[in-house]
Amino acid sequence: MKIPKNVKAMPWPEDIHSGNEDYRVSLSWPVAEHERLLVVTFLVNRNKAVGYGRTAQDAAKNFRLICFKKQNRAVILYQGERQGKRHRLRPAMRQMRTDPRTCYPRIDERDEAALAKWLGRTETQNHFLDHLENWVDQALNAEKQAEADARGELRDEDVDLCPGELPEGLEEWVRREIIGRDHTLVYKKGNVRGVCFRCGRKVHAGPWQRFRQFSITRCPDCGEEVICVLSRTDHFRAEYVKNIVAAQLGTDGKTVFFRQWHVKRDPTARYEQVAPWLEEFGRYAVRGNRAAKWLHEYKENYCMNAYRYRMDVWTRFSGVEVYDGSYEFFEGSLEGAVAGTRLQYADIPGYHQTSWTQYRDGGYGYHNVVRYAMDWARYPVMEFLWKAGYKNLVFQRVAGLSKENRNAVRWSRGKLKECFKFPLRLLKLKPADQWNMEDVQKLTKLWGYHELGSLAERDISEMLEMDLHFDLLENAMAYAPLRKIIKYLSGQTEAHHGNLEQTYRDYIQECGQLRLDLHSREILFPRDLQEAHNRTMAQISYQKNKADQEKFAAQVKKLERWAWERGALLIRPARAQKELSDEGAALHHCVGGYIQRVANGETAIFFVRKKAEPEKPYFTLELRDKRVIQCRTKNNKSYELVPEIRNFVVSWLEERVNKKAGRAKKKTAHAA
Ligand SMILES: [Zn+2]
Repeated sequence: MKIPKNVKAMPWPEDIHSGNEDYRVSLSWPVAEHERLLVVTFLVNRNKAVGYGRTAQDAAKNFRLICFKKQNRAVILYQGERQGKRHRLRPAMRQMRTDPRTCYPRIDERDEAALAKWLGRTETQNHFLDHLENWVDQALNAEKQAEADARGELRDEDVDLCPGELPEGLEEWVRREIIGRDHTLVYKKGNVRGVCFRCGRKVHAGPWQRFRQFSITRCPDCGEEVICVLSRTDHFRAEYVKNIVAAQLGTDGKTVFFRQWHVKRDPTARYEQVAPWLEEFGRYAVRGNRAAKWLHEYKENYCMNAYRYRMDVWTRFSGVEVYDGSYEFFEGSLEGAVAGTRLQYADIPGYHQTSWTQYRDGGYGYHNVVRYAMDWARYPVMEFLWKAGYKNLVFQRVAGLSKENRNAVRWSRGKLKECFKFPLRLLKLKPADQWNMEDVQKLTKLWGYHELGSLAERDISEMLEMDLHFDLLENAMAYAPLRKIIKYLSGQTEAHHGNLEQTYRDYIQECGQLRLDLHSREILFPRDLQEAHNRTMAQISYQKNKADQEKFAAQVKKLERWAWERGALLIRPARAQKELSDEGAALHHCVGGYIQRVANGETAIFFVRKKAEPEKPYFTLELRDKRVIQCRTKNNKSYELVPEIRNFVVSWLEERVNKKAGRAKKKTAHAA
């Protein structure tokens, strides 16, 4: 943000170190670019702690507020800095809040009067700094709005550019194509009486017949095939026939609206007029390369049902997702709606016909004209892809991209060659209509390998056709070109089906862990991959085990001090990992799974045994923070049920584990 030179050059007053005020505020009136500016200087009183809302770094700095009244703009300049930063303006002004209890500024009477005059105010709560904050706020908002306008963004209130009347021909189309093709029979509780929306008559199920939810049957009256729906349920079809969308040009002549309605059910199936049964709930607008969305309804999904709520006003929503799933598109008003706008080049009819046919015929089941139009407007590359025949990519884009291929194309780039992460000539490797997003993603990867020197360009075409998980081979590419790796793996395929790349990836990783020399051909390309992988796996688990064993032994050593015996019983820590798993096996509980946690010192396992049979598992005890978490024998039976063991364990805790605590307890017992 530009600050006039003479304002930057203004000297700063000396710091203040006395008085009761948080700030000392003074005004100056420099002239720049033929305008008299208002500069408000805020000096921090070093004697007082300030900083509500401001960052610690900013809190101690003096700053100036520079107000351009004509341009309706405000800039903040901190002492010692050269530029104003917009995001620091509001927090700084928040200091001057209307509440005089949190901020006490001092301003002399003449300046206060001048500020009041500048703001056009007569009453104040805090020396007109409250009004100054408001002025800054509105200036900031105006500035942001001007920027959004310059970018061509739609404003919230642009929803009102949509005409109120229905598009021409819509009602006839709804009567013919939506109501006229409605194959629904809505029946009442009792499953006998209902209304057939095919013939529009009240019907009665035949003898021994019942209407059932979502079952397909023949109307007892007209004999047409209908789907049965129970009335007054929250199911969409009980209340609505369908959702529809039609395009209409906004009253500004530039904004194209896609309006979305529910076609509601006339319970009598008569539909004397169509318009009363249309309930508009969505408006999507396209202007230039911008899109916006407003809704008049929201829904909550609960147990497979959607509960719909009407909102009082049109509400702007971010994003371009089309609300409420599928809809049918009325093409009749399209031509007039897009004429003279950029969208007239978007071939919406072409998209509509192909996608709708495929959708209706149960192809890949997605069509979304609104989204097509919005994406076409927002992403220049869409036009190229569509016209050059890469239509599958467009269909995929409109249907929504997956996590894997979201970044396959740089959609927002303006220049075609920047949209792809590989040279455009590679798009000729296959006929245009055979490309899909997964191919583009794959080619992007392959081109990356080429750039790293792992793959020759002439080999890309062949690799593109291969059904391999190339990314699993990336760790091996550091040691050999991709082509050689694939050739090696193809020699292995016959013996091992399926996840060969996975096995190889793991093998290479293990070689790295074991510090084997992958530059040696014998190691990089072992004769039998599976066998070599088994070997490295075994070696790693052995080494890992060794480390664990050492940790385990160290823990056991600590626990030995609590080994103890009394009467016919003894207690001691588990001394080896194998003991733990054996104990678990003998007593049928899960102590075998505790090895890692014991090694980490998170818990301790002790064995309670009979002195006469010291090798035979009896009770197993888990001790954590000197407390018994559990002590169990065969089939998880607890020690509390065996008095002999319970007394033994209690004494052990008192006399050995919590020795000091035990004595203290006895003392208090005597005292009481
Ligand atoms: Zn009928």
